[in-house]
Amino acid sequence: MAEKMHAMVLSKLALIESRPLKLMSIDRPAIKNKSGLLLEIEACGVCRSNLHIIEGDWEKFGAPSSLPIVPGHEVVGVVKQIGSGVKKVRVGDRVGIQPLFSSCLQCEYCMAGRENLCESAEITGETVQGGYAEYISALEDFVTPIPDNLDSEHAAPLFCPGITAYKAVKASEPAAGRTVGIFGIGGVGHLAIQIAKMQGARVIAASRAKKHIDLSKKLGADNVIVYQDSQEQFLKNLKKEEGLLDSAIVFAPSDKVIDTAIRSVKKGGTVVLGVLGNVANFPTFEEKIVKGSVIGTRKDMADLVKLASDPGLKVVIEMHKLTEANEVLARLKKSKVEARAVLVP
Ligand SMILES: [Zn+2]
Ligand SMILES: [Zn+2]
Repeated sequence: MAEKMHAMVLSKLALIESRPLKLMSIDRPAIKNKSGLLLEIEACGVCRSNLHIIEGDWEKFGAPSSLPIVPGHEVVGVVKQIGSGVKKVRVGDRVGIQPLFSSCLQCEYCMAGRENLCESAEITGETVQGGYAEYISALEDFVTPIPDNLDSEHAAPLFCPGITAYKAVKASEPAAGRTVGIFGIGGVGHLAIQIAKMQGARVIAASRAKKHIDLSKKLGADNVIVYQDSQEQFLKNLKKEEGLLDSAIVFAPSDKVIDTAIRSVKKGGTVVLGVLGNVANFPTFEEKIVKGSVIGTRKDMADLVKLASDPGLKVVIEMHKLTEANEVLARLKKSKVEARAVLVP
């Protein structure tokens, strides 16, 4: 008989206020193939997309693919068992899993090193069991080792907001002499500021919340421009203080912010979208480029973990018990979580 574990299980899509995640004792995942791993989870970040899955917002995208499901896709744990063919990971290693649980490794995207775009990708906590649990299965080719100087609670958010920030910043082509604007300073944006600074860019944060403005300055933003309701006022302030931007990255889920970001960059400039949204009034004759960005590849993940370890990234977190997942998600829904919430079994 399989050994058991505790997990917060979603059996029916429902509003988070009805506490749809139930603490249950379920079978520990089994190692099903030669490159499989079993991890004992030490930390799992709480993501807004977990909330979308639970409340049924993403049913139209086929997520979750089936019920019951254990959500959670930014997971760090210690390897407890390995499959017979595992070579790169040993029992006792600490590793992380990102939303990209696996990909086919054979299609044109996978062959080009863009496996985050694979059509056959499995997504942690959406198509396979996720990290709101004591144990999780993984595959050796899709885990990233965690250096000793990063604790598991601070490392976990690197595996979703971190990788999202890293890849979007990379797409914005930051460099010395270039000015990059970051719109939306929360779980993802606070990491993007630091990563863009590391590449030598001048970093301008745009946010509406006072607490995020203070945080942005503390994390090294060169300037913070308040963006409340008036787009015109924001653009006026931006032009006066900085001039137009070379590139902009949007993490605020708002069509109006996307439009503002497009208007904030120079002709020929680049806008990277790290959120879902609509592009209206696209100024074709200004030759601007709008790029989408989604999570990241295994190489991006390894590069980011290296940056986080040395020179070091400040990951702002608050810790909670796994059993508090419903309450934490309900607070997240009301925007009451300041930093990244992390669940610890
Ligand atoms: Zn996430
Ligand atoms: Zn593929």
